[in-house]
Amino acid sequence: MIETAATHQVEAGALADDEKVDLLGSVPFLSMHVGAALALFTGVSWAAVIACLTTFWLRMFAITAGYHRYFSHRSFKTGRVFQFVLAYLGATAAQNGPLWWASHHRLHHRHADTDRDIHSPGLRGMWWSHVGWILCRKYVGYDERLVRDLLRFPELRFIGRYHMIAPASLAVAMFALGAWLEGRWPALGTDGLQMLGWGFFISTVLTYHITFLVNSVAHMAGRRRFRTDDHSRNNWWVALLTLGEGWHNNHHRWPTSERQGFYWWEIDVTHYLLKALSWMGLVWDLRAPPERIYQEARRGRTEMKEAA
Ligand SMILES: [Zn+2]
Ligand SMILES: [Zn+2]
Repeated sequence: MIETAATHQVEAGALADDEKVDLLGSVPFLSMHVGAALALFTGVSWAAVIACLTTFWLRMFAITAGYHRYFSHRSFKTGRVFQFVLAYLGATAAQNGPLWWASHHRLHHRHADTDRDIHSPGLRGMWWSHVGWILCRKYVGYDERLVRDLLRFPELRFIGRYHMIAPASLAVAMFALGAWLEGRWPALGTDGLQMLGWGFFISTVLTYHITFLVNSVAHMAGRRRFRTDDHSRNNWWVALLTLGEGWHNNHHRWPTSERQGFYWWEIDVTHYLLKALSWMGLVWDLRAPPERIYQEARRGRTEMKEAA
């Protein structure tokens, strides 16, 4: 069954009190956007743009490979040190700690696109699925029972409890880098504030909204290879932006697979990087979809041809 274009959009119902935008609680998230807007007044240089893209890709990878494929789905194994590296880098994206993220994400998979889904665009509208659920009070905490396997690592609990330390450390590092470059290579035309603006604020806002496309657009627009019980879709441009997370219908069909692009033509940069890390011995036991899932995909294609 192949469907294209956005469907299932219904009017978001009345919001409960704890589902309304909590302005005070959203100050860190909103100030990141203010910082990004102000960064546009710090001027721009190639060094700043390169820093912005580097911190964006690095954190996108930490979110997709770390927060999503490793912590939420355990789709590969790694040692405790690299697990910490993934958790800390992921936390620099200012999307809370790995336990919070994994707990909410596991809940999403359990109830995807039902009235118990925390961010279904079909039931609550695109705004809610993209940021509404993050701006309200309801999901500030998380259900520890869903992440029992991760709770036993005190360093992960620490990163979550003090989840502003990681992004703050990146902000300081970016400012220091800019100030150092200004003194060392003034011809680059950068400075501390500009580097802070581009390498931290703009890059963080990009990471936010590109990550959130998976919850909003990848449940609304794209193709459905598998008849999953939810509205997940394979969306190639979301996959390109998110380093492979756009193959979301594949992912909902077999969430424990490390690769989300199931075929060579489904570009999944996170998968290529994890493969490279496995050759270096940093990660191992990368789980793939079983043969029967590929058979199911082939059967779906045949049915489609017959129906045509
Ligand atoms: Zn989903
Ligand atoms: Zn998932």
